[in-house]
Amino acid sequence: MINNHKIGEWREEVRYALMFYVDRYGGYAFPCDKDGNVLMDQMEEPARKNYADCLAHPEKYPYGFNEVHKDVNRYREPDTGTCRCGQEMSLTNEYMGACQCPKCGQWYSISGQELLPPSEWGWDGTPIDDDY
Ligand SMILES: [Zn+2]
Repeated sequence: MINNHKIGEWREEVRYALMFYVDRYGGYAFPCDKDGNVLMDQMEEPARKNYADCLAHPEKYPYGFNEVHKDVNRYREPDTGTCRCGQEMSLTNEYMGACQCPKCGQWYSISGQELLPPSEWGWDGTPIDDDY
């Protein structure tokens, strides 16, 4: 088992977009704050031109014009721990639900159990007996 195992915390990322719908499925979206103020500094010049065009032609967006859309992304950060070699590491899914210590090469499951290297995993998850 990995040392100092810490369960990853839940995070929430909230983003807003100002929407101009050409049909019921989509259209143009521009990054904005919760009040619908477009974040011009986060847009390239072509996007700024599209935004100006949207504002100038509300008739092109009968399914929604200038609507603020809230997008909430909840995710859990990976667990972390200290490998037996002393290396701090994130327990991320690098390969088949396992990850490798960047310093000593020890493999761990994403919940922190020490594993054999994948080259020694058999088809059914048991180690390959390569004595013959
Ligand atoms: Zn290590």
